[in-house]
Amino acid sequence: ILTLFGAALGGALGVILILLRRNTMSMKARLQQAIARKRLTVEYQPIVDIVTGKPVAAEALARWRDNGEAISPDVFISVAEKSGLINRLTTCIIEHVLDDMAAFLVANRNFHININISAADLFDRQFNDWLAARLKAANVASDQILLEITEQSTANSSDAIAAIRRLRARGHKIFIDDFGTGYSSLAYLGELSVDGIKIDRSFTRTIGTGSVSVSIIPQIIGMAHVHHLAIVVEGIETEAQRDYFAALVPKVDGQGWLFGRPTTSAAIREMLHASREQSNATSDI
Ligand code: C2E
Ligand code: MG
Ligand code: MG
Ligand code: MG
Repeated sequence: ILTLFGAALGGALGVILILLRRNTMSMKARLQQAIARKRLTVEYQPIVDIVTGKPVAAEALARWRDNGEAISPDVFISVAEKSGLINRLTTCIIEHVLDDMAAFLVANRNFHININISAADLFDRQFNDWLAARLKAANVASDQILLEITEQSTANSSDAIAAIRRLRARGHKIFIDDFGTGYSSLAYLGELSVDGIKIDRSFTRTIGTGSVSVSIIPQIIGMAHVHHLAIVVEGIETEAQRDYFAALVPKVDGQGWLFGRPTTSAAIREMLHASREQSNATSDI
């Protein structure tokens, strides 16, 4: 009986040890495993013309469920960036997007997908070459994959200007993400020579609150126009916020909960088909 008891105790201890190790396995190691096992997924959030409400694009957003628990991309992207996993993560997201792309293009051949890339991707020539070859193989035009980079990754460096120039020479469109939150001044926008900016949702949030930051919005838009940049407004949650921008700019795209939360590729496909039927119906009249 004593030996039986001892064996049972040993077994239980072993199980506890395994569970403990699993919990203490670093987030880096778990993320690395998730990437290798293709466990990361993608959600898409629609970007629409805010006047007509028509979808023009969608942003691909990485998702990771770690043992059932959804980890925020703000957390795991930063882990990936610090631990040298970001290149693999980015290629994994792009593979997902290419799997879904053909169906999107059937519904709307002008549709494009925005992908977030990190500084390490921007500067990595091997990644740049891989992307070009991969898109070619998938028969996707390079201007149908927009690349979003953060202001931080361009922080006043001539390397960034050169890297952006290289990617644009290959036909990619480059947008500055979360514009207005980083270090770069409005004047620096001209030097960067990108295709567009995404106005950070911290500005959108100030609309109607009487905050002084609201007065910066027309300045950002004015500067974007000077440099012929396309504008996407982030974080539009209310009709009042949408109407503010619609009154201010003749042509502007927006993204936010008012138009749709991040969702599955199937839902985006349905949205595109519905929007096509709607425009067929109106052109029949
Ligand atoms: P981001 O690129 O600025 O993406 C927009 C974020 O704002 C998303 O958060 C989206 O869910 C959220 N959002 C959109 N509309 C609204 C709104 O109306 N209200 C509010 N409160 N939030 C809204 P998410 O998915 O949690 O992603 C956070 C960040 O993680 C992204 O910010 C991006 O910087 C990063 N990220 C996500 N996926 C990737 C990826 O594949 N690669 C890289 N490098 N970064 C990624
Ligand atoms: Mg983004
Ligand atoms: Mg953003
Ligand atoms: Mg962000």
